[in-house]
Amino acid sequence: MNVTDSDKNFYKTFIKDFLPKKIFDIHTHIWRKSDRSGKFQTERTVSWPMLVADENPIEELIKTYKILLPDAEVTPLIFSNVPRDCDEFEKYNNYVSEVSQKRNIPGLIFSHPEWSAETLEQKIISGKFIGVKSYLSLSKPEIPVADITIFDFFPKHHLEVLDKLGMIMMLHIPRNLRLKDPVNLKQMLEIEKKYPNIKLIIAHVGRTYCKEDIGNAFDILSETKNMMFDFSANCNSYVFECLIKSIGTKRILFGTDMPILKMRTHRICESGKYINLVPKGLYGDVSNDPNMREVTGDEAEKITFFLYEELAAFFKAALKCNLTKNDLEDIFYKNAIKIINDATVNLRKIK
Ligand SMILES: [Zn+2]
Repeated sequence: MNVTDSDKNFYKTFIKDFLPKKIFDIHTHIWRKSDRSGKFQTERTVSWPMLVADENPIEELIKTYKILLPDAEVTPLIFSNVPRDCDEFEKYNNYVSEVSQKRNIPGLIFSHPEWSAETLEQKIISGKFIGVKSYLSLSKPEIPVADITIFDFFPKHHLEVLDKLGMIMMLHIPRNLRLKDPVNLKQMLEIEKKYPNIKLIIAHVGRTYCKEDIGNAFDILSETKNMMFDFSANCNSYVFECLIKSIGTKRILFGTDMPILKMRTHRICESGKYINLVPKGLYGDVSNDPNMREVTGDEAEKITFFLYEELAAFFKAALKCNLTKNDLEDIFYKNAIKIINDATVNLRKIK
């Protein structure tokens, strides 16, 4: 990874002085290329992330932190990339479990909605995971992608297990309307109400990458008490301001979504849709991807890392909302440590 003077300048100007020394990254993917089944890409997900990294072993993740955030001590919560078949489920989750135990780093299992409650529980306990991540592409293939709901990939019998064990649920919400989608909001509230012991994390602030994705979501969410929001892979400062104002500082978590955040991009919104501007040629042929656009010349040279864009946008919102150093320590470390510790204690209690 090549860090240019312009990157270093960006880091010094917009990040260094605001970033707490100890940080917890609640959203990272680790997996090894050698564990992949070598099959095609699933068609229900956007395609650009695979162009950034085809693997992210733990060593690579740790190296990335040292290069991009040289002044911070970073601990990750780890989980795999989306597994595409039984073999990958087994190998990817085993790798996360192994790394987690060897290095004393917390990990989540990637769950398949077809697993029975017993299977999920047994896998969580035997792998010493402290929660679960799943993904909409694992829902039944006959459901059109626009119709997938949260309970199609996090079925209720799984939520019962997570509630019983007091574990973390990392949720990337489905549906084209994103956070403002009424079905999403209804189900998020239902999880909070019916499964109070689940530590629910709404990833990427519910995919509100543009202000048009908000709708009346934050009015509704300001009534919630438990669910948390990570702002990984989001660099919309206006969205962050709304989030801070609506739910306060105790339920916001810093996350990156490594390795995608190593990408060089400047994200813009056009007519409510996000577009990643990238230096021409850096990520191969992106002409088929409506979320990607190549730029050249000066504009391309100024483009820094997605991670830096995310952090700078958050600190901009923090400044506008008058957040204190203590608030930032909560968001970047303490809020995460609290739920991680609770879930870890719960895991140890199971015998
Ligand atoms: Zn992710």
